[in-house]
Amino acid sequence: MKKVIYPGTFDPIHNGHIDIAERASRLFDELIFVVAENAQKKAFFSPEERVDMIIQSTHHIHNVRVVSTKDLIVNVAESEGVIAIIRGLRHVSDFEFEFQMAMMNYHLNPAITTILMMPGEKYIHLNSTLVKNIARLKGNITDYIPTIVEKNLRLKYHI
Ligand code: ADP
Repeated sequence: MKKVIYPGTFDPIHNGHIDIAERASRLFDELIFVVAENAQKKAFFSPEERVDMIIQSTHHIHNVRVVSTKDLIVNVAESEGVIAIIRGLRHVSDFEFEFQMAMMNYHLNPAITTILMMPGEKYIHLNSTLVKNIARLKGNITDYIPTIVEKNLRLKYHI
């Protein structure tokens, strides 16, 4: 059974994340979303809300599971028994950070491979901050987020 984790903040999940999850889920037996409860990065949605939105937006992917953690990602990878960490790569500007993370994770556990995957062209410019800003200013972001995320953003921003 080849399992992988897909860690991130997912604050909130958007269609770029889902594009990567769909691609990875076709390559591996199980894909585990890992919502990072990173205290350094103040999130807009709680870990529970972020997990719930991922679950509700990935019903169509049969081999997905969702967990959240305060732990180091390589420790989660070890305890889940995965072979790789999936990360998304949008622009060259993402590369430096992802490369650094991958090298540090190899130092921590050389057996766990980092795989960088590119999303479809439509999602290259998309990120969670952009989603929140556009929603807050009442712009149309429907094409880029799951229905449940749109609903929750409306509730949070009272729009
Ligand atoms: P993090 O704070 O760990 O970068 P994010 O929620 O922003 O968490 O992203 C989680 C993962 O999804 C990262 O690997 C990121 O590169 C990837 N990702 C973010 N936005 C996109 C996108 N539009 N297309 C593909 N991958 C993306």
